[in-house]
Amino acid sequence: MREKIVAGNWKMNCNESETIELLNNLKSIEKPKAIRVIVAPAFTQLAKSKELLNDTSLTVAAQNMNGAISGAYTGEISADMLKGIGVTTVILGHSERRSLFQETDEILAEKVKAALKAGMEVIFCFGEKLEQRKLNTHFEVVARQLKVALFDLPGSIWKNIILAYEPVWAIGTGETASPEQAQEMHSYIRSLLVSNYDKAIADDVAILYGGSVKPNNAKEIFLGLDVDGGLIGGASLKANDFMAIVNAF
Ligand code: PEP
Repeated sequence: MREKIVAGNWKMNCNESETIELLNNLKSIEKPKAIRVIVAPAFTQLAKSKELLNDTSLTVAAQNMNGAISGAYTGEISADMLKGIGVTTVILGHSERRSLFQETDEILAEKVKAALKAGMEVIFCFGEKLEQRKLNTHFEVVARQLKVALFDLPGSIWKNIILAYEPVWAIGTGETASPEQAQEMHSYIRSLLVSNYDKAIADDVAILYGGSVKPNNAKEIFLGLDVDGGLIGGASLKANDFMAIVNAF
């Protein structure tokens, strides 16, 4: 049975003291045992976060990595470096990486392969822009993103992949997909997994929804049968809000 997951993408927020405070606050709030909770602080706070969460069930992910093994890539971080500090999950394909840092589906395909080859777990983000939804091409867009980045991977590797559908028009805008829109897309994504792989794999892959999930809308979004949790941006920076979302299941 697939996992229920809530992951917090902290983006470029939280220096060391803010990280310590936020993690300590998160640790002090009860969560249902069955929900997996992941936090993704900035690179500089990963080691500290691992240390602080050592005695908890909360786990740590990186927000990005480079697809190369090592070499002349100034400012970049490799899978091996992340693994070296015990971080084995990485978010790839976030819309901000795509739009601000020109990460194409093809570049992401390479990054995904590198992460998986290094034995990491990938939270793969994708989703359509507003104009694509208005043109009714959102299913096509999502199908292409998944096909280019993921659908040539062997079925056996899917146990290390979490999908995060994040319509770009809902990220950081305060506008969410309706529960019906989220479920409709998640069910479509699962049908793509069935047609490209098989039902057993499709049934096991967790598909998270991301885009302005808040304590007041999480419950109805998570009701969708194919919605297995959330990738949370803004609300993950407030311990009470984030844990309220976790507890919305
Ligand atoms: C995100 O950045 O992945 C995200 C979903 O952000 P927010 O929750 O702030 O919309």
